Amino acid sequence: MTHQPSSHPDNLHPDTVVVAAGRPAREHDAPVNPPIVLSSTYVGTGTVVDGDRAYGRYSNPTWDPLEEALSQLEGATLPGLIFSSGLAAVSAALSLIPAGGILVMPIHSYQGALVMAQELEAKGLFTLRTVDIANNDEVIAALTGAGEKAADMLWLESPTNPMLEVADIHGLCRSAQAVGAVVVTDNTFSTPLVQKPLELGSDIVLHSVTKYLSGHSDVIMGALLTSNPELRNALLHHRSIHGAIAGPFEAWLALRGLRTLALRVERSQASAMELASRLDAHDGVSRVLFPGLPSDPGHLRAQAQMTGFGSILCIEVEGGEAVAEAVVEALRLWTPATSLGGVESLIERRRRHANEPISVPANLLRLSVGIENVEDLWADLDQALTTVTASE
Ligand SMILES: *Cc1c(COP(=O)(O)O)cnc(C)c1O
Repeated sequence: MTHQPSSHPDNLHPDTVVVAAGRPAREHDAPVNPPIVLSSTYVGTGTVVDGDRAYGRYSNPTWDPLEEALSQLEGATLPGLIFSSGLAAVSAALSLIPAGGILVMPIHSYQGALVMAQELEAKGLFTLRTVDIANNDEVIAALTGAGEKAADMLWLESPTNPMLEVADIHGLCRSAQAVGAVVVTDNTFSTPLVQKPLELGSDIVLHSVTKYLSGHSDVIMGALLTSNPELRNALLHHRSIHGAIAGPFEAWLALRGLRTLALRVERSQASAMELASRLDAHDGVSRVLFPGLPSDPGHLRAQAQMTGFGSILCIEVEGGEAVAEAVVEALRLWTPATSLGGVESLIERRRRHANEPISVPANLLRLSVGIENVEDLWADLDQALTTVTASE
């Protein structure tokens, strides 16, 4: 049984694609949604050939519509690959670095990706060069190696977590290509509705599907997208052999969540912009990090390569770590929790994680703006900031 992708005109807008992609074929009495297939193996006789389902670690019909939808959204020419988590996708992507190779990575990468790279380096698998990803000269020097070996992989995350620095994706992809480095872009924060790294020159796009794509804080999943057949084969092989596969129910839930991505992103981005402007003028806040603010160092770059500014913003609370913690505790609507990209607004002081780089200020709070009414979100932030910072 092979999957029959639903056929659509290719000029659909992305907010239509999230709804229309990955539907079952239009046959009388066919279900409108793909069914969940729970089977660890598939009937087969004779020699197993490429494309056979064969066994549940290689393929599952419930994965296909989601992989097709994600690929359409990112503009990949090959079906996507979903994984058991974003970090499983990171692991597969890092496996492309040859033994003894060089990886260039932002110092403010997603913490788990950075820790994984540091651990692999400590085992002697490759050399890691961490960089300020907003500084083109620094990244290019790390790519070319300045007399040493040139890089094999460039890792991009833009905006970064949690400092929201913006990388010049197109320019850096050209520099990476010139030295033969594969570019992987973690597009979790932006989603393909806001930023399309493959169009900007990246070879691979990575997602923690856990976040915006599934959108309801009820799934852990990752995905990789590429239009390069050799890279895709290597990543698929890694998934099949290392076994970090998504469960069918999670795949079904993620596609269900994806259907509303455009509405969720539209609302949360508009609210993030509004909250960033108001927080910027709040006495209890010493700094707002958000590429949507004209004063932000990444503003012009973000404007050039994104269709919006995302829904994550960070604030530095006036006062130190204890005041920032007190603000989080004084909130009633915002949920104190790690993670992001769900319908509900979340907030956390990033340095509560022992692994967070110390270049992230101790009084920095990361806000993942959800889809609640913006006035309710504002009122809660305002009361917490005002009562806590006034009592200092
Ligand atoms: C959460 C996250 C990851 C890791 O994904 P998991 O699904 O938690 O394994 C990777 N990159 C970014 C930017 C993330 O926010």
